[in-house]
Amino acid sequence: MAAPEKEKMYDMEVKRRRVKEGGGYEPFWKVKKVADALVDGDTEFRCKDCRGEVKVLGKTSKAGAPAYVEHKHTADGDFCPSGLGFKRATDGRVTRWSEKPVA
Ligand SMILES: [Zn+2]
Repeated sequence: MAAPEKEKMYDMEVKRRRVKEGGGYEPFWKVKKVADALVDGDTEFRCKDCRGEVKVLGKTSKAGAPAYVEHKHTADGDFCPSGLGFKRATDGRVTRWSEKPVA
């Protein structure tokens, strides 16, 4: 199988708030399609696989080409199961969490 040309992830995690037991709210991360998150106006994102920072791309592209995210830090993608660097690596490396995770 050929190595992927470009890093494109169509799912990510978005930060949401839910009602906490005993009152108040608590944040939690939810996996969501990038395109849906943009429609819903979510503002806090991270990679669902390594928790690293991501940037949203392709949101202005026409229908049929959904928005996607890629790692903001190349180093995250080198060790993320969804990362281009990791998929291309041939050294038998193992995945790890981002060194700069979004909390
Ligand atoms: Zn990642």
